Amino acid sequence: MSGNHTCQYCRLNAAAEEPPGGWIHRDAFWSVYHGPADASIPGTMKIVSRRHFVDFAEMTASEAAAFGPLLAQLDTALRATTDAERVHLVSTRDRVQHFHAWLYPRPASHPLRGTDFLAAPQHGDPAEAVAAAHAVRRHLIAAAR
Ligand SMILES: [Zn+2]
Repeated sequence: MSGNHTCQYCRLNAAAEEPPGGWIHRDAFWSVYHGPADASIPGTMKIVSRRHFVDFAEMTASEAAAFGPLLAQLDTALRATTDAERVHLVSTRDRVQHFHAWLYPRPASHPLRGTDFLAAPQHGDPAEAVAAAHAVRRHLIAAAR
């Protein structure tokens, strides 16, 4: 096993079982899965690096080259499969020091925008999260054909 065995995202990347809702996308550099159902609006995605590193500046050229197109594919899929008007990208890495980024689909109907939206509590339920994960995965597979 590569990576740091004390790091929760290295353990997740190495685990045999899939996260709730399954892997939405996996390649040599990135894993994508749905955020925790109880604290995420449906369609919230987490992008986690396969390799253990923390900061943007530590990305290899290959990781960086794959990250932009992955963001574009997820943005397209989220806007097609949820009522997102805009998809917000957040990556602080302050709590877990393994590179990861969140994508938050902000509905057109939501009263808040920008950091006000991001700071507000989010809720969902497991069935909605799984349905959103499946819809995004189907969209990514169809778009790759
Ligand atoms: Zn790690």
